Amino acid sequence: MSEAGPDYLSNLNEAQRAAIEATEGPVLVLAGAGTGKTRVLTTRLVHILNQNLAYPSQILAVTFTNKAAQEMKERIGHLLGRSIDGMWLGTFHSLCVRILRSHAEWVGLQPNFTILDTDDQLRLIKQILKAENIDDRQHPPRLILSIISRWKDRGLTFEQVKRGEHDLAGKIYEQYQGRLQVLNAVDFGDLLLLCLTLFKQKPDILSSYQQKFRYLLVDEYQDTNVAQYLWLRLLAQGSDNLCCVGDDDQSIYGWRGAEVGNILKFEKDFPGATVIRLEQNYRSTSHILGAASGLIAHNQGRLGKTLWTDDKSEGEPVLIRGTWDSMDEARFIGDEIETLQRRGESLGQMAVLVRAGFQTREFEERFLKLGIPYRVVGGPRFYERMEIRDALAYLRLLVQPDDGLAFERIINVPKRGIGNTTVQAIHILAREQGISLSRAARYYAETAEKGAARVPLRKFFLDMDRWRSLLDQEPHVEVAKIVLDESGYTAMWREDKSADAPGRLENLKELVRALQEFEYIQGFLEHVSLVMDNNQQAEREVVSLMTLHSAKGLEFNVAFLAGWEEGLFPHPRALQDSGDSALEEERRLGYVGISRARKKAVVTYCFQRRMHQGWQTAIPSRFIKEIPLAHSVHINANGGEVSAAPASFHRAPVVDFRNSKPSFLDKTITLHSFQIGDRVFHQKFGYGEVMELEGDRLDIEFDEAGSKKIIADFVSKA
Ligand code: ATP
Ligand code: MG
Repeated sequence: MSEAGPDYLSNLNEAQRAAIEATEGPVLVLAGAGTGKTRVLTTRLVHILNQNLAYPSQILAVTFTNKAAQEMKERIGHLLGRSIDGMWLGTFHSLCVRILRSHAEWVGLQPNFTILDTDDQLRLIKQILKAENIDDRQHPPRLILSIISRWKDRGLTFEQVKRGEHDLAGKIYEQYQGRLQVLNAVDFGDLLLLCLTLFKQKPDILSSYQQKFRYLLVDEYQDTNVAQYLWLRLLAQGSDNLCCVGDDDQSIYGWRGAEVGNILKFEKDFPGATVIRLEQNYRSTSHILGAASGLIAHNQGRLGKTLWTDDKSEGEPVLIRGTWDSMDEARFIGDEIETLQRRGESLGQMAVLVRAGFQTREFEERFLKLGIPYRVVGGPRFYERMEIRDALAYLRLLVQPDDGLAFERIINVPKRGIGNTTVQAIHILAREQGISLSRAARYYAETAEKGAARVPLRKFFLDMDRWRSLLDQEPHVEVAKIVLDESGYTAMWREDKSADAPGRLENLKELVRALQEFEYIQGFLEHVSLVMDNNQQAEREVVSLMTLHSAKGLEFNVAFLAGWEEGLFPHPRALQDSGDSALEEERRLGYVGISRARKKAVVTYCFQRRMHQGWQTAIPSRFIKEIPLAHSVHINANGGEVSAAPASFHRAPVVDFRNSKPSFLDKTITLHSFQIGDRVFHQKFGYGEVMELEGDRLDIEFDEAGSKKIIADFVSKA
């Protein structure tokens, strides 16, 4: 190779280049945020291909999300100037699926096995509990499932689970696996575990993969769990060419079984490993970097790293901004976004990062009001599920008889004997007459001379008319139930014997509950279409709204970090735990958050959150005072700098956190019998945390089901 090397190697620093060119043997790149780890990994892959060291199919690259895999693939194509097919590039799960589909029979599956989601898993556990006569209030399915999942994360099959350790869950684990086999299904944890079983039981298959994969590359290594680690170690034994990149300070999935220890013991596990540290940060201004580094320096359990930038501009100090309440916080951030946009900043380069899913709502409402396009990344997709779309189509047709799309969706769902030929004929009629599809259908039903579809079509329209007239007499929620029942739609799912049918019925019930929050069906549909429309803006420049967890690995010119209050961030769970490890994980999350920003980072907190008995004082996050003064400016909710003369507004304290004693952080907000931050349990939604109290209603962020408003009587303290 020439001195200068190929083009893709120019513009890289020496350490990065070393990490790329050390193609043989184990390599660990251990470095802080924004130092180019992902870039190194991508370029290394390009380098391997460019040097003809391997065919694309001989490279295995693991990314944290499917989206990251897609981006990496595009980038590789761009750097090489051609598109590359056949690489094994994806998440651990997607790569395991690929392996298992080829060898399903060896682990007792058929190649077309299904992958169950959490809903399905819970249903299965419930069925087992019922069959075993076990009270599911005493032994909540969600708890059992999480124990089983953690075992799987640790690479433990039910045979390997130690007796005496959650005996009941262990017994259910065994039965659960039995049922999965009958269903020809697996859950997410199984994807890795079954691969491990396959490799153990069929050494020849393992060895074929060991020989196949000449180079293995892994991003975000700090968040691998034990099963993933074992999987990698087995596969890497063939070539020994394993390159992992990661940052111990960004390990944020400990609660889901990730083992930061994997990265710390890399050198021991892979003797002779080259360890490369990258110290130059290319992403952020020096203030942002200083703020992020200052915060993470408060963690004890870390390797510690040097990070520097040659950013001469320095940029703006991190803005820490107090606001009165969550509405004011959303207003402030909305205004900032508009100002930045006027100054030419693109919306796609702005993100609002929150700790808990429920926090997005206030921002969504504000953004809708201001007309700021946004996308909730990884947000609830409830309204996109098939049965919900079907049910919505019925409701749409009810209030909007000309809604042709809705009509087409449900005209033969459930089956009414109205086939494609009829629908085609109606389409032609609609086009010829210039009328809507449903109008054409009505016309067709009344005038068509023959065709078996006439009778069911007529009945359909008679029913529709009847339901519509009910809207004047009955509450809209009742009418919705009648429509779903009398149309045969709910019956269709009740009779369906597939594993996901009960879940669909539950979703339909949830839809009716959501409808209760609105006065009219129209209002509800409008709300839904706003949510849905928002999801369709994938290609436009939009502000990203997401949790800190889903922001890992991403970068934005501007990052707004909202809700930095005790009991929200750090999360209440971290405050309850004895020891500092959960709190340190929260701090790492803060570090991930700040380090997403290139040019501008804004941290906000509220002085008050709305509670049951009016406004309650909230307490700014302890992390705020850990951001070095030299890299931040702290503005109070009244627009003054924090250390300036205190003013007393409401009951909101004006505190200079930097000088305050930790004791003021010890306060908790007490209300009713529930407190903000309480862990609670709900029969249907499982475990969650109380986020807000309003009268007898609790805003609960459920671990799996997302945020919901629940009457206090329906939940118990967990
Ligand atoms: P994180 O820890 O957040 O995942 P990372 O270490 O993976 O960060 P990258 O995302 O790879 O960092 O890089 C951060 C930014 O710096 C990217 O915009 C990248 O293109 C840029 N960058 C990386 N290396 C260089 C370089 N040598 N010269 C210029 N820009 C660089
Ligand atoms: Mg990265």
